[in-house]
Amino acid sequence: MQIIDKIYIDGAFVTPQGEEYFDLFNPATEAVIGRVRLADAADADTAIAAAKRAFPAFSRTPKTQRIEMLMALHEAVVAREDALFETIVEEYGAPVSRGRWMAQHASNVLRDAAKTLESYAFTRRAGTAEVTMEPLGVAGLITPWNSDAGFICGKLAAALAAGCTAVIKPSEMSALQTHIVTEALHSAGLPAGLFNIVTGRGDTVGARIAEHPDVAKISFTGSTAVGKTILRTAAETLKRVTLELGGKSPVLVLDDANFDEAVPLALQAGFMNSGQACIAGTRILAPQSRLVEFETRVVNAVAQIQAGDPRDTRTSVGPMVSQKQWERVQRYIRIGIDEGARLIAGGAGRPEGIESGWFVRPTVFSGVTNDMAIAREEIFGPVLSIIAYRDTEHAIEIANDTPYGLQAYVVSPDIARARRVAAQIEAGRVLVNTLAHEPAAPFGGFKQSGIGREYGTFGIEAFLEPKSTLGVL
Ligand code: NAD
Repeated sequence: MQIIDKIYIDGAFVTPQGEEYFDLFNPATEAVIGRVRLADAADADTAIAAAKRAFPAFSRTPKTQRIEMLMALHEAVVAREDALFETIVEEYGAPVSRGRWMAQHASNVLRDAAKTLESYAFTRRAGTAEVTMEPLGVAGLITPWNSDAGFICGKLAAALAAGCTAVIKPSEMSALQTHIVTEALHSAGLPAGLFNIVTGRGDTVGARIAEHPDVAKISFTGSTAVGKTILRTAAETLKRVTLELGGKSPVLVLDDANFDEAVPLALQAGFMNSGQACIAGTRILAPQSRLVEFETRVVNAVAQIQAGDPRDTRTSVGPMVSQKQWERVQRYIRIGIDEGARLIAGGAGRPEGIESGWFVRPTVFSGVTNDMAIAREEIFGPVLSIIAYRDTEHAIEIANDTPYGLQAYVVSPDIARARRVAAQIEAGRVLVNTLAHEPAAPFGGFKQSGIGREYGTFGIEAFLEPKSTLGVL
C-alpha cells in the first residue's frame, strides 16, 4: 500500500493543507493499492502564487534555454520509464503493450515540444508592425485519468515552450502515476515554481484554478460537461481556454475497402486504450451492400481479441479504470439492447472465466441507427456501433451528424477518393488508412469536442498572445 501525502509546490514536495484521503485501486483486482492525500482550494492558491512569482523571470528566458529545459525534463522522464510503465499497468490497468507506449509518450511529448521550439519564430513582421508572441502568464493545466502522464507532460511541455509557468491539476484517480511523473520532473532541477502539481478534486482544486484571477490560461482535457463548466467560470476573468473534450468518432469504411485491412483497423480504432479514448472510432460506418460480409468478419475478429489480465502480452483490452466506469459501460450495453440494436459480439457482464476486476467484454452492436443513444453519446469503453449506409454521401451525412468532431477515420484503397471524403468530414483530425499519430500536426476538436488545438506550433501558440509594436521598423 503506497501513501502519497505530498503535493509539489515551488520546487518542493510539501504536505497539502487539504486533509481528505482518497483510495487508489488496481482495476484488474479491485484491490486498494494506495491512498492519496488531496490538495484543497488553499493549496491551489499557494501553487498559483508560486507560479506567479516564477513567471516574470521565466517568461524572459531565451528560446535556447527553454529548449535545454525541455530536453532535461525529457531525459528525466525517460530515466523513470520503467517505473512509470509499472504504475500505468498497476493503477490504470493498461495492457502492457499500450502501457509501454504510454510511458514513452510521456517523455516524447517533451522532446517534440523542444523540436517545435527550435524553428518557432517568436517575432515576425505584419505590414509596418513588429509582432511578438508573448507568453500569457500562469497556465492552469487540468487533466483526466485515461493518459495521466502523457497529458501532464504534453500540456506542461507546450506551456513551458511558450514561456508560461504552470499549475497542474491531474485526476485524483491517477495519483500513483502522477507521483512518478512529479519525481521525474523534479529531478530535472528546473528553477522553483515553473511547474506545480496539486492533485485534488475537480470541484475544489480544479474549480479554484478555473476561477483564480492570477491564472491567465486554462488547458483542459476531459469530459464535455466539465469543459463547459470551466468555460463558464473562466469567462469571469476572460481566461484563454483550450478544451480537449469528448468524441464519437466515425470510421468510414468505403465500399471499395479491403476488409482484410479495414476490419482490424476499425476494431483497433474502436478498442484502443481499452475503449477509454476520446479519439476511439466508436461509430463504424459500413456499406449496406456489403454489410453481411463485414459483420461476419467483425464477429470472427472480435473472437480473437483478448480482454483480461493487462499483464498478459496477448491482452489488448484491459479493465475499465474504476467501478463507476465499469457500471457506465454496462449501462450503455443494456441501453443498446433496449434500443433494439443487434448485439453481434460481447454483451453485458465480464468476459468468460473472469470473476472480478472491472473487465468488460469487447462489444459490437450492428443494426444501429445514428439517433440511438449508443451512437450519439460517448460511452468511453469498448462498445462499438456498426451503422449501415446506402452510398458515400449518406456515409458523410451520418459521420457529421453528431455534436462531436474530434477525429474520423476513412478506409479505402483509393487515396484520391478517401481524400475527397476526408475533406467533407467535420473533425479536427481525419486519419486515412492509418492509426498513426503525428506530433507535429494540430490536435483538437470541431464542435463540442473542444476549443483550440494542442501539439506542434498550434499547441505552443495556445499559450501565447500576439503583440504588435508599430513605428519601430
Ligand atoms: P472529467 O471531465 O470528469 O475530469 C477531467 C479533469 O477535470 C479531472 O482532473 C477532474 O478532476 C477535473 N474536474 C472535474 N470537475 C471539475 C470542475 N468543476 N472544474 C475544474 N476541473 C474539474 O473527465 P474524466 O472522467 O477524468 O476523463 C474522461 C473524459 O475525458 C472523457 O469524456 C473523454 O472524452 C475526455 N478526454 C478527452 C480527450 C481529448 O483530448 N479530447 C482526451 C482524453 C479524454
